[in-house]
Amino acid sequence: MSDQQWHGEGPRRPRRSGDRRGGRRDAAGRQRPERRQGDRERSEQRPSERSRTTDPARLAAYTVMRAIAGGAYANLELPKELREKGIRGRDANFATELTYGATRMRGLYDVIVASAAGRPLAQIDDNVLDTLRLGVHQLLGMRVDAHAAVNETVGLARMVNGAGSSGFVNAVLRRVSERALDEWIGRVAPDVGPGDTDAELARLSVVTSHPEWIVRALRAALLGHGAATADSVGGALRALLEADNEPAKVSLVARPGLASVEELVRAGANASRLSPVGAVLESGMPGAIDAVRDTRAAVQDEGSQLVALALAAAEVSTGRGPRRWLDLCAGPGGKAALLAGLAARSGATLYANEVSEHRAELVNQTLRAATEADIEVMVGVGDGRELGADEPDTYDRVLVDAPCTGLGALRRRPEARWRRQPSDLAALASLQRELLASALDATRPGGVVGYATCSPHLAETRFVVSDVTKKRSDVTVEDARPLFLDASRRQVPDLGDGPFVQLWPHLHGTDAMFFALLRKH
Ligand code: SAM
Repeated sequence: MSDQQWHGEGPRRPRRSGDRRGGRRDAAGRQRPERRQGDRERSEQRPSERSRTTDPARLAAYTVMRAIAGGAYANLELPKELREKGIRGRDANFATELTYGATRMRGLYDVIVASAAGRPLAQIDDNVLDTLRLGVHQLLGMRVDAHAAVNETVGLARMVNGAGSSGFVNAVLRRVSERALDEWIGRVAPDVGPGDTDAELARLSVVTSHPEWIVRALRAALLGHGAATADSVGGALRALLEADNEPAKVSLVARPGLASVEELVRAGANASRLSPVGAVLESGMPGAIDAVRDTRAAVQDEGSQLVALALAAAEVSTGRGPRRWLDLCAGPGGKAALLAGLAARSGATLYANEVSEHRAELVNQTLRAATEADIEVMVGVGDGRELGADEPDTYDRVLVDAPCTGLGALRRRPEARWRRQPSDLAALASLQRELLASALDATRPGGVVGYATCSPHLAETRFVVSDVTKKRSDVTVEDARPLFLDASRRQVPDLGDGPFVQLWPHLHGTDAMFFALLRKH
């Protein structure tokens, strides 16, 4: 990719027609990007005379899209592909924005493709559809020159989908390039009348590119957690869904006893206003920071940091004896590493439990700097559902960072919204209940359990806590909100009606973490 073809500085949201900067205007007053010398000649070439290849960044994006279709995770696959192909700098940023944007926004792009192609999606091969999604994202979601976007994507199609498909890709992308994003949205998802909630949710699902069941679940969560009223939920839902389509900022944690926020600031980050142990990296690679390289600091969502800090700050009255903390579901160890430093500070030791051997090994790697600094922490492999029976009344503080749908972290996992199914909730629901019950069994009287998920779904949050606690007489739920203090030691705003805490991407800039504080008597 030449620098001239992409005028973006980094990832950006899908653009609306009014946002176009620079460029010329057509007869209807729509702005058009500048044409560069040679574009006209190229656009008049027949497809057979055009390029049979494309640049490495677009090819890498396509390769990762196909891997995602086969079950891979973008956040693991893309860095591997970039490394293997030696793609760096602006080209790596371009490939990242292309892969993430095309994957996130494919719900909307697919409807636009079907309209432009004049045929149902089922009649388009999956691999050709991935090429088209990449082309549409360049045209409607990035400031790529339209001719370059079409020609390069047609070159990609010739290379990976075959000559037969490239004419079709060319025709569809040319049709897509005739309208700006707003115009396409007006065509494929027109406004609906006031009061028709079902139609509005279906429309939002297309416009913000989320499956409709997720749109409905997030709406219920906003209402159920007290983050919106019947009057305000429409605007809140839209803001939340749009925040899911924004790349998450790079938040760092300075692990207590191992690194400081000041050290991260000296390395180029800004101190977090939300997390007392956090910093935000506006530009540059986290891996270039010494403290991150040697696991004294790490990339971690500020919401996750606040959850670990909240558990550590809760009062306990467990009497005398050695202080023991437990992270019941620890892999890959982000919260365990934070808890280990906090535990050491208060004279306690942490036991990090994880059911998967592979993920327990990741916990060991995450805790490398902590163990080298003689912070006392043990990592074990075991089913957390059995730990309560094996070690009853043992721990002062227990974190259950439960396996969940991850609907609160859709910003980070571009493919997750398309992979998750409503049926996942049923399997997770019983696991979450059993883990929480086991955690309570493992807690000493007077101790606390923090139940957390990176999902605001009511079935994974409030319903789990109320189902488990109503069956027991030895537990009370406490107001967790006073434990959520920002970097200025003030209570974080907009935490909901209590006693639970629910963070939100559109309100806090964090993943939508849920936290409940339970005390055992
Ligand atoms: N706390 C972790 C962190 O901050 O890095 C993230 C935890 S993740 C949300 C949930 C973890 O629970 C996964 O690593 C998963 O393997 C683990 N898990 C799933 N079932 C479990 C079980 N029965 N017992 C213990 N851990 C389990």
